[in-house]
Formats: sequence, structure tokens, C-alpha cells
Amino acid sequence: MIKLHDLYFKPFISENEIDNAVQRMVDEVVSDVQDEIPVFVGILNGSFMFVSDFVKKYPNPCEVTFIKLASYEGVKSTEDIQRLIGLTQDLTNRVVVILEDIIDSGNTLEEIHRIFKNEKVKKLSIATLFHKPEAYKKDFKLHYVGINIPDKFIVGYGLDYNGLGRNLPKVYQLKTTQYMTNFVLFGPPGAGKGTQANFLKETYNLVHISTGDVFRYNIKNETALGMLAKAYMDKGELVPDEVTIDMLRAEVEKNSDANGFIFDGFPRTNAQAKALDDLMDSKDSQINAMVALEVDDEVLVERLLGRGKTSGRPDDADEKIIRNRIKEYYQKTAILKDYYAAQDKYCGVDGVGSISDITNRLTAVIDKL
Ligand code: AMP
Repeated sequence: MIKLHDLYFKPFISENEIDNAVQRMVDEVVSDVQDEIPVFVGILNGSFMFVSDFVKKYPNPCEVTFIKLASYEGVKSTEDIQRLIGLTQDLTNRVVVILEDIIDSGNTLEEIHRIFKNEKVKKLSIATLFHKPEAYKKDFKLHYVGINIPDKFIVGYGLDYNGLGRNLPKVYQLKTTQYMTNFVLFGPPGAGKGTQANFLKETYNLVHISTGDVFRYNIKNETALGMLAKAYMDKGELVPDEVTIDMLRAEVEKNSDANGFIFDGFPRTNAQAKALDDLMDSKDSQINAMVALEVDDEVLVERLLGRGKTSGRPDDADEKIIRNRIKEYYQKTAILKDYYAAQDKYCGVDGVGSISDITNRLTAVIDKL
């Protein structure tokens, strides 16, 4: 990942792919121009790198020149008027190949056609290294296309974002989601995840998603999801993965402009962890860490029974259900420790002590992420 000005970009097209595409375009042009000596006309600024690599690969005699289209505000009209800089050469009766770094809407290309209408060239063809078919609004034929790309903002290999990035040898794509901090707050029932999450979401300006809370909200509002989840929750069992994963995904989508997320109570199974990785990946992001509160079983039972007296949560009222939830946690969910440890993302934090002590321990860990 790279940062240019205020934005983050991720690698998109490798040097090797670019090289292959340029070579293929050269081969196609060679076979089309035959004995003619073509004039390659690069469109500045973006095409300088492409033109350089293209002509180095071109095996026969050729001429190279550059033009630049500079736009300035018309005095009378608000429309941009394109001004041509640099076309000093007589191109009468020549075979001309325009070399463009990228063609998206086709506006520049239209301008080029307008300008070349007056030049009595023998043949004008258009070669573009990158092309965005989805954005292309014109009918002009593109004779040589290197790589078709989706309608995403790219930089590198001559292309810039506000002046930066032209020197990069490969191409990067704007990250759809800019930098996020996401972590999984982990720990057995009663470890204090909810309490700590409330502090942490304020400190780091993150969205806190507790799957248990979302289920309880749905039960309270008697939604279909709530009714489905209730049967499992009342017994202290896990709600099936499919249901939970769909729900989590919807919660993340609801907060698409978040700085990041604290996942609390999710994932609880390997399938959920995998789904979460995929979800973060689809947002060009990742889980930075699993931060786990480590608390002894007997302390947990005591805390939960205490909470049950005031919270009204049925699964906190009964010691048997509590012990079952803790057992479920270790049986089914402690394997997640291995999942994140394998990615070097597991951070254990001592969860016994005063609330503020634990908050301090947590922030010390998260600050390092
Ligand atoms: P919690 O508030 O996190 O202790 O969750 C309470 C209950 O909600 C659990 O005992 C499960 O029945 C259900 N639940 C919460 N999160 C999940 C999850 N990620 N997967 C399956 N069930 C969940």
C-alpha cells in the first residue's frame, strides 16, 4: 500500500504485466505499418513512460514526438478549450500513431481527432496502454489497447494523483476504503468486552459491533432474525454461522464510512473468522489484531451472576447457562486464538483488575497497531 497526498493506493498492475502489454502493442503496430516509418506521437504528461518503453521495444526506424493538450478557461464560454502545444512537425502523408497512457471518457481523444483533422496524415491510429471501457463515451476506434481496466482511479507508470505517482514503475489503484483500524475484541462472556468497547470506540472513533447486542435488539423488536436467534441464545448456544455472518455483513455495510470497527462477540467460529477476513478484504482493509481479555473462569461466573441481577438478561441469570456459555466459548471459539496467532495478530491482555486499568492495558496494545 502507498500513500499519495491524503489518499491510499494498493498495487494493481505489475511491471511484468505492463511490459507484456507494451510488447504486444509493439508487435501489432509493427505488423500493421509494414515498410512505413511511423511517427509516434506521445500525449504528455502521462504517456512519457509508456512512449519510452514502447519505442525502446520498437525494432524498426521510427520518429518520436510529443504533444501536450493544455486546457484553459475560455474568456466567453465557461467550457474548457483545449490548446495544443508542441506539434511543430509537418505530418503530411505520414503514418501517425498516437500513444496515450490512458483513455477513459474519450474527451482528450476527441480533441486529438479535431486537431489532426487539419493535418493531412496518411493514416492516424490510436494506441492506448490503459482503457476503461465502462467510462468510454465516444465512438472513435481504438486501434491498439494494452490493458482494459475497470473504472477505477489509478496512478503510476506516468499517471498521477495531483502531481504525485508518475515515477512509480507499476500501477496502483485507489483503495475504495481508505485506511481503517479494525480489531476483534475477544474474551469469554463476562470478560468486560462491552464495557471496554464503549471506551475504545470513543478513544479511536470506531464503530462498535456486538453481535450479541444486535441479536438482543432483534429479539426485543421481535424481528424474524430475533425469533430465529432466540432459541439458540436462550440455551447459551451459538446462532448458526450463516445467520450470524449475514447479519454482521449488513451491520458493516450500514457503516460504510467508518474509520474502523471493533468486533465484539464476532467471530466465534473459524467460518466466521474467514468470512470476516473476506469482508475486510472486499473493503480493501483487514483485521489488524485480535485483542483478547484473559479472565479466569470462576471470576467470570461471579461477574455474570452479578450482572444478571441488574441486566435482566436471561442468559446471565442461571449459573448452569453461564457455565455452558463459558464452555462453548472455550470449545468452539478459543480456536480463534490459533487463527489470529497464525497471522501474528493475537494480543492477550490481562482482564482482571479495575476497569480503567484494563482500559489502559488495552489502549497500550491498540496504540501500537
Ligand atoms: P454475547 O452477548 O456476545 O455473550 O452473545 C450472546 C449470545 O448471542 C451468544 O450466546 C449466542 O447465542 C449469540 N451470539 C452472539 N454472537 C454470536 C456469534 N458471533 N455467533 C453465533 N452466535 C452468537
